[in-house]
Amino acid sequence: MNLEEYCGIWVYLEVHEGRIAPVSLELLGAGRQMADKRGVPLAGLLIGEGVRDLAQTAFPYGADQVYLYDDPIFCDYRTESYMRAVIECVNKNKPEIILYGATSTGKDLASAVATDLETGLTADTTMLDVNAETGLLEASRPAFGGNIMATILCKKHRPQMATVRPKVMKALEPDTARTGEIIEETITLLEEDIRTKVLKIVRETKEKVRLDEADVIVAGGKGLGSKEGFALIHRFAEKIGATVGASRDAVEAGWIDHDHQVGQTGVTVTPKIYFAIGISGAIQHLVGMRNSGLIIAINKDPNALIFQSCHYGIVGDAFEIVPLLMEAFQKK
Ligand code: FAD
Repeated sequence: MNLEEYCGIWVYLEVHEGRIAPVSLELLGAGRQMADKRGVPLAGLLIGEGVRDLAQTAFPYGADQVYLYDDPIFCDYRTESYMRAVIECVNKNKPEIILYGATSTGKDLASAVATDLETGLTADTTMLDVNAETGLLEASRPAFGGNIMATILCKKHRPQMATVRPKVMKALEPDTARTGEIIEETITLLEEDIRTKVLKIVRETKEKVRLDEADVIVAGGKGLGSKEGFALIHRFAEKIGATVGASRDAVEAGWIDHDHQVGQTGVTVTPKIYFAIGISGAIQHLVGMRNSGLIIAINKDPNALIFQSCHYGIVGDAFEIVPLLMEAFQKK
């Protein structure tokens, strides 16, 4: 493989309910920095039906170009049709790096593309950098149970690919004066060539927990002692209009649903304020919340690890401290 033939950084622009997904805009921000460092263009790759207008929305967020596949065959996401478009576009235009959001669609698509192109894929990345001279992507993610950060390199194949967790990169402030080039691509794909059909889309009826969009999170851990104890977290969150988060141990104890889990095997969050209550501060929890604006920890053990990673720490029993906080908020 001649690595020299590959140039430029791409972001797969995922479409959610008629808009470019926030994670894709975040990746354009990260991609812009890498493209500037490397001196190469940043392109978005947009696939769908009736998505032409969305292509324009990528430019204010940093894209120089958008490769566009707009065709009824892409009406619903299907691995086979989307991967065919990505592969064809890659073979034709040869990018050196492609970034995808680590969403269910992004993970599915990236792994299918990587398998077909026989290239490397770093999953669930939380840090990205590029070597300005060689173009080598440095994609880092927690490894060995979250005890270390591993930087994974793909030295011999192109494109280098990574899925990146939502909310770990920052989208640029949109610059509406910024424009770019839309490159229309077409692919000959027949419905009968695709082995899957979408018969019906059944929306989840359960209200979705939007931890990754919350401004304030009150998270509880094993220190709450029981499901009844954990109810204190719900009461506090309700009082201050926060979203409830949890450690894995609280989830595994059955006190709260997995949707609320923060951390390596849960959601990555960046609220303005994060309360960690009765949470010890294990690395697997910290990787999911350490970029929060303000971290306030309440723990009865003065040596708890969480106190090394918080902005304010209160040493004390949650069942005494939290009611006092609620009372104080009541007075405000
Ligand atoms: P504990 O570690 O038991 O801590 C409870 C804390 O509560 C203690 O510090 C204690 O001093 C304090 N406490 C006790 N009583 C009170 C009280 N009355 N008032 C105040 N404080 C009190 N964990 C996650 O959270 N998210 C993940 O995504 C995740 N993924 C993982 C992935 C892997 C591969 C592995 C191996 C582990 C993962 N873990 C994850 C688990 C993680 O290692 C810890 O076990 C977990 O975070 C501990 O949860 P905790 O802090 O609630 O419980």
